[in-house]
Amino acid sequence: MQNKIQSIRGMNDILPSEIALWQYLENTLRETMTQYGYDEIRFPIVEKTALFKRSIGEVTDIVEKEMYTFNDRNGDSLTLRPEGTAVCVRSGIQQGLLVNQQQRLWYLGPMFRHERPQKGRYRQFHQFGVEVFGLSGPDIDVELIVMTSRLWKKIGLADDVVLEINSLGSLEARDNYKQVLVDYFSQYEASLDEDSQRRLYTNPLRILDSKNPSMQEINSNAPQLIDYLDDESKHEFKQLCQILDLAKIPYKINPRLVRGLDYYNKLVFEWVTTQLGAQGTVCAGGRYDTLVKQLGGKETPAVGFAMGLERLVALLAERKEVSNNPDAVLLLMGERAQSQGLVVAETIRDYCPDLSLQLFCGGASFKSQMKRADKSGAKFAIILADNELDSNQLTIKFLRAEDVTEEQQKTLPMSDACDLLNKSL
Ligand code: ATP
Ligand code: MG
Repeated sequence: MQNKIQSIRGMNDILPSEIALWQYLENTLRETMTQYGYDEIRFPIVEKTALFKRSIGEVTDIVEKEMYTFNDRNGDSLTLRPEGTAVCVRSGIQQGLLVNQQQRLWYLGPMFRHERPQKGRYRQFHQFGVEVFGLSGPDIDVELIVMTSRLWKKIGLADDVVLEINSLGSLEARDNYKQVLVDYFSQYEASLDEDSQRRLYTNPLRILDSKNPSMQEINSNAPQLIDYLDDESKHEFKQLCQILDLAKIPYKINPRLVRGLDYYNKLVFEWVTTQLGAQGTVCAGGRYDTLVKQLGGKETPAVGFAMGLERLVALLAERKEVSNNPDAVLLLMGERAQSQGLVVAETIRDYCPDLSLQLFCGGASFKSQMKRADKSGAKFAIILADNELDSNQLTIKFLRAEDVTEEQQKTLPMSDACDLLNKSL
């Protein structure tokens, strides 16, 4: 026997039994975006490697060790997108969406990072992201936070997530602070872990983002960025906090929140849950006012965030029941019913456009058809036999106990039966 070919580690199939939750989440996201007047944008999954190196930063986890990079047949270096912001900016510049315009965009799709797979961390995962261009905040920054907060309420996760915010200040303020950090960490150079030693002179801010427990103490005593902010950033951060207060969104200022990517400035935020162990960040974002220029566009203020859908689905799975069961199954008894079943099913669908109706195919005894109807989770079995065919009627059998009001089964003229189905949905 041949060996079975398996999927790639960390790249998962999403099975029919799981899909209802995914679709529920995706539909709710789409509805929310429409509610706020945001437009969807779709861009490729593969881009030139240089795009990510130049935007995310050479000395970041993603670029140093997580990217799926390969040479294509022309010898060009390409990368499976590890995130959406850089691609969105590339697309916005290339398609002329950003010059003297405001854009409020969203996207949803797979991202790829070569990380160690574990619960909440995969090599192919899905992000829903929002990017806004041409608005410098802080009102729009708060809109993004309020919008995510509304989403948590809609999907029933409001009690499971908390908001953490910080300001990274202007690029100059950050550069000053970097020097302060280098001075501080240099005193402990020998005690730093390997990653942090390497980052000390290239990207000291990232040391603060370390998840290594041995770095916790040194990190917690480090000087805080908030004390080195420029006046404008300080003022805007204060304004932002005031608007958050007005909007009654609870938040925690986390002075150590720096985010793992190089392009952020001013506001950064994360929605974090304690329910998923170390993989607790379900949504993360911030302002990136210099990225458009850095990628060859005109200077354009920008802010955005991305959510990891796997982590949200994992939270939802423990709290929510959603199913994609059909509403009804059409059972066919006898040869005539079998040959006319398909046409009758179409007629029912014409009358009941909101009904999800599964047609029993392949023929079987009534008993085994009933068994399968029960197993399908449908609310109704619609029965078509010679008797119904001759009288242009349908028999409807209610399968769920709570629906059984009077009779469990009714034989009605076709149009009355369809009315009843429509009413019972
Ligand atoms: P982390 O600190 O957990 O590695 P990150 O800072 O690398 O996250 P971002 O690049 O900001 O994450 O991505 C935004 C969101 O995408 C994360 O908050 C998380 O919910 C999700 N995410 C990131 N990497 C993965 C992954 N490998 N598997 C599943 N979800 C992920
Ligand atoms: Mg990461």
